Amino acid sequence: MRAGVLALQGDFAAHLRALPAGAVEVRTAAEVDALDLLVLPGGESTAMLKLLEGSGIEEAVRRLVARGGAVFGTCAGAILLAKDVTNPAQRSWGLVDVGIERNAFGRQVDSFEAVLEPDYAAVFIRAPRFRRLGAGVEVLATWRGEPVFVRQGRVFAATFHPEWTDDRRVHALVVAAATPVGAAT
Ligand code: GLN
Repeated sequence: MRAGVLALQGDFAAHLRALPAGAVEVRTAAEVDALDLLVLPGGESTAMLKLLEGSGIEEAVRRLVARGGAVFGTCAGAILLAKDVTNPAQRSWGLVDVGIERNAFGRQVDSFEAVLEPDYAAVFIRAPRFRRLGAGVEVLATWRGEPVFVRQGRVFAATFHPEWTDDRRVHALVVAAATPVGAAT
């Protein structure tokens, strides 16, 4: 199983430490085409979109999903994957049928740690919140009753950062759901 982390911006190094050995940093569409699982890290989604422009990576991520591969976006990565983005609005890939609001805890809440249901450890950093879930979206974890980790098929999105905790179960769940699918041709 070939796992990679998009390494253009944000906290990709923490994800690499949380993934099984052998996971790689990826910066090109060709590198995405060689993966079975791509992680989109937290960071700043507007900056990521700018860096992604013209790279062909968005198209490579669509190919990855089409050939049965898995994608996991955390925080800014979840914002890239969502269908609708607000506060402020920006374009996104629509690979998970959710509406997401950026920086949704307000300016005064920079970051906090929480225990989810089930009992995953989570860190929220200038976190977004899911505001709408489409019918095909499954909730995998909640915080105070609201969804914070969801999947639609093999596309996973979390509004928190599992990579900043010692709890590896969220990554393990995503890795277990990803299977070798072969490279894009
Ligand atoms: N607030 C950031 C954004 O809107 C996301 C924060 C994060 O990834 N920790 O892109």
